[in-house]
Amino acid sequence: MGLTKGSVGGGARSSSQDKALTLKKRQPEDKVVALAGNPNVGKSTIFNALTGMRQHTGNWPGKTVANAQGYYSSQARSYVLVDIPGAYSLLAHSAEEEVARDFICFGQADAVVVVCNAACLERNLNLVLQTLEITRRVVVCVNLLDEAAGRGLKLDLPRLSQLLGVPVVGTVASKPQTLEALKQAVDEMSVAEERLPLQLPYPEELQAIVAQLAAELPEPRTPGVVWPNRCWLALQLLGDDESLHKRILSQLGLTGNEQFAERLAAARQAAAAAGFAPDQLADVLVGVLMRRAEELAAQVVSGGRNIYSCLDYKIDRVLTSRLGGYALMLALLALVFWLTLYGANYPSELLSNGLFWVQGRLEQLLAWLRAPLWLTDLLTQGVWRTVSWVVAVMLPPMAIFFPLFTLLEDVGYLPRVAYNLDRPFRACRSCGKQALTMMMGFGCNAAGVIGCRIIDSPRERLLAILTNNFVPCNGRFPTLIALISMFFVGAAGGFGASWLAALLLVAVVLLGVGLTFGVTRLLSQTVLQGQASSFALELPSYRRPRVCSVLVHSVFDRTLFVLGRAVAVAAPTGLLIWLLANLPWGDGSLLAGLAAALQPVAQIFGLDGVILLAFILGLPANEIIVPVMVMCYLQAGSLTELSSLPALRELFVANGWTWQTALCVLLFMLLHWPCSTTLLTIKQETGSWRWTALAFALPTVCGLGLCFVVSHLLALF
Ligand code: GDP
Repeated sequence: MGLTKGSVGGGARSSSQDKALTLKKRQPEDKVVALAGNPNVGKSTIFNALTGMRQHTGNWPGKTVANAQGYYSSQARSYVLVDIPGAYSLLAHSAEEEVARDFICFGQADAVVVVCNAACLERNLNLVLQTLEITRRVVVCVNLLDEAAGRGLKLDLPRLSQLLGVPVVGTVASKPQTLEALKQAVDEMSVAEERLPLQLPYPEELQAIVAQLAAELPEPRTPGVVWPNRCWLALQLLGDDESLHKRILSQLGLTGNEQFAERLAAARQAAAAAGFAPDQLADVLVGVLMRRAEELAAQVVSGGRNIYSCLDYKIDRVLTSRLGGYALMLALLALVFWLTLYGANYPSELLSNGLFWVQGRLEQLLAWLRAPLWLTDLLTQGVWRTVSWVVAVMLPPMAIFFPLFTLLEDVGYLPRVAYNLDRPFRACRSCGKQALTMMMGFGCNAAGVIGCRIIDSPRERLLAILTNNFVPCNGRFPTLIALISMFFVGAAGGFGASWLAALLLVAVVLLGVGLTFGVTRLLSQTVLQGQASSFALELPSYRRPRVCSVLVHSVFDRTLFVLGRAVAVAAPTGLLIWLLANLPWGDGSLLAGLAAALQPVAQIFGLDGVILLAFILGLPANEIIVPVMVMCYLQAGSLTELSSLPALRELFVANGWTWQTALCVLLFMLLHWPCSTTLLTIKQETGSWRWTALAFALPTVCGLGLCFVVSHLLALF
């Protein structure tokens, strides 16, 4: 989930804003087109349809946090298409809106396509009007026409085009044939003559001050591309958005220009005297914009049913009700886990049999090639076995879990979860958007951390970043599933046992979520004190999931990506472990020596030296923790064959594991340091090693503490 390939820049306020504007043209004559719009209006779907890429689409606001670029060609020419994060307004309130605004204003695109939701055009016109104030190099794309029709809405798009003075095309992005008109309009607009931008009816006194200040500003440096007109720039300089001021001054080469600073101060004084002080200006602008959007919508939209009679509204009354909402959330979670566990049993076994059969053939082949014994051993026992384990145990659950999760996302259920969890998060002085980033964490914690950019308040963003690792990512899920199956419900699986395993997994996840709340609250009362901010979360319409595209997306972009990463890390780690196990150290191997050195510490927490060593060596990727344990134990010579979960259990038991050990490993798997990718992402997003260290320490301390208490309590009985 979250940031996918094609991203061309970080959107975090901490990262360089200029990076977000870096473009790679294939040919110098390529035209650049920005794809803007409110969140969740179909921008990424249009982007994918035009470029043939697989940028993440999902039915919830806030999933795109950085620009992504792709290429497409029409009959006229070729284009670089830039999918920018969803924004309700160019008066930026969040990091994504800042990235979007900066690209529209200073990305030097040749045209901007503003995508709108036909089912709520009036609200979307706000962004259209703001963009038209900057430039007329705009094509308005009214998408989701099918949804609007389903609600009985009629739209007069030719009239809208007349009123706005720019082309307006209607589309249904999920039907690519409807995008032809859009391509044509872009062909024309990207080489269109320069025209004056839209003038909105701001109060005359304000307009006079703006005009005077605008006259002081230089002409645009590159004619023929989108560049904010001088009146718009002057108007923004009178407002209170400091980051935009800096950006404008640096773009205009006026940073540090004292003469201009004096003129600006005088203009601000005049504006304040006329009742347009910087902090009041935004209200004035928004008021004018909203009135104009309302007038336009009244002229072009007709029909439509009462919102309270819509099916969406009725479903939401159940899914977001106080008690029913939570009960349904838990039931859905349990169902998803059960389907995963029950469905994964058989293919897992089949896969492991197949892969271990290949191991036998590999050994025969190497023997036939007269490969030295150590090489055969290294390749089969070290590398192949680890990779096989990772594939056999991880692939089936992932291939079931990810599509199910993506289906829930595509239907539009995730924002409902965020809505339900807003109350408990607010009680912890954070906001419901943290629930969305937590959901992303279930996929990948690094993506969850990047996703925290959707949270506007820096304090709440940090809270979400620091606690993201408390929910298990997909690298940890398969191991949690395997541990539960082996030690708590019997490895054989079966209908009833799978339900029990699913419920246990729900309990583990709930523990993670509970600790997320607890630690968030603790941080809010200590190092990150402050009040919860309010936020507007749009509940998107429920949409029929695109089953085929969900399958393709979850198999290729998630399952195979995660598996590839696991294999890529597991193979060299397998090699490293094999080397460690074969390098002599004292009486035994270096590996045994390291495990023995960790043994006394590990025992305090109900673990053993090998387990702790595996967690340490698993820092690059959680997926490899169990394979490392397996290899360490195998090097100890307890077992030589390992082809299924019962055999794995046997191996662990032979090395002294009890169900108490398994419980501690389960807890530590849920609660230990983030993987190295996540840690680096945290460093990047927070720009601080101190916060990164805290993100490392928080789950680790919780995990070790819980293991200590649980193992000592269990020892009493
Ligand atoms: P973005 O946030 O603007 O990039 O929106 P996405 O492209 O991710 O689309 C949001 C959701 O709307 C996804 O579930 C899409 O499948 C769905 N969607 C996009 N365009 C259309 C459309 O024209 N009709 C319908 N019914 N669904 C659409």
